[in-house]
Amino acid sequence: MNRPNKEEYESMTEAQRNNWYLQILEMHQTMWGFNPHGAEYFDSEKILETINQAADFFGLPMPKVTEAEDTVAKIKTNEEAKNTELFYNLKVMQDKGVNNLDALRLCLVHEMCHQALRNTQFWIFPNELWIQELACDIVAGAYAEKYFIATNKYKWVVGMKNATPTHPGGQMRKNAVDYGRENLSKVIDKDGSPLLDRILNLVPPFVYEHMLELAKSWKAIQEMDWDKTFFNPPSPAPIDIDRLPDSNLIKQAVLKYRTQLKEKENHYENHQQ
Ligand SMILES: [Zn+2]
Repeated sequence: MNRPNKEEYESMTEAQRNNWYLQILEMHQTMWGFNPHGAEYFDSEKILETINQAADFFGLPMPKVTEAEDTVAKIKTNEEAKNTELFYNLKVMQDKGVNNLDALRLCLVHEMCHQALRNTQFWIFPNELWIQELACDIVAGAYAEKYFIATNKYKWVVGMKNATPTHPGGQMRKNAVDYGRENLSKVIDKDGSPLLDRILNLVPPFVYEHMLELAKSWKAIQEMDWDKTFFNPPSPAPIDIDRLPDSNLIKQAVLKYRTQLKEKENHYENHQQ
């Protein structure tokens, strides 16, 4: 599907315009909560091509790309932007729902945006990391609008995530993607400054608009005992076998094992004598 130009749009009938509007809704709709948009196969070559496009958009050199074990995609940024490393895992991506080209493109734009923002700090909220994430999602949304990319799958993937010390909650991230997409037109043909800078001007108004929600969510995160709940899950309590009912299979197995052990010991002792 391609976006009609002005002339094409003007020559559309009312019904065609309605149809067009519905198609756009579908591209960005995730409200029913189920997995939108079918899966498409892509391979490592497609990933490299997509990273190249994203790097181009930010005016960054192509990063070193490595297949990693346990991540959808993550980027190791550095000061110089020269030795950026991007890690991804095709299988994890597909499993987590980044399984069509539009979702892939937005996921990689988000990652490359972290590198583009390596020297940018917003300082408009106590947790700068959250604002960096939201900025990357706003940029992903604006990128989707510029290149006519569906956002539904990407939003579905990020929308399921809970807030953590490093990432704001999924609903806020979905809002950020929509905000970037819906407001690109306001910044696209302003002055001659770089497009990325103009898109980043959208970050403070978005944050102020959602300040109360963000502050509540950040407070809840700080009140959680992360050492206990997230980083160091408590070790399982030892099982007291004698307190389990006789019908319990674990108890039966342990008792059987103990009896066998006893028998073996007896056997050994017998031989000693
Ligand atoms: Zn990120």
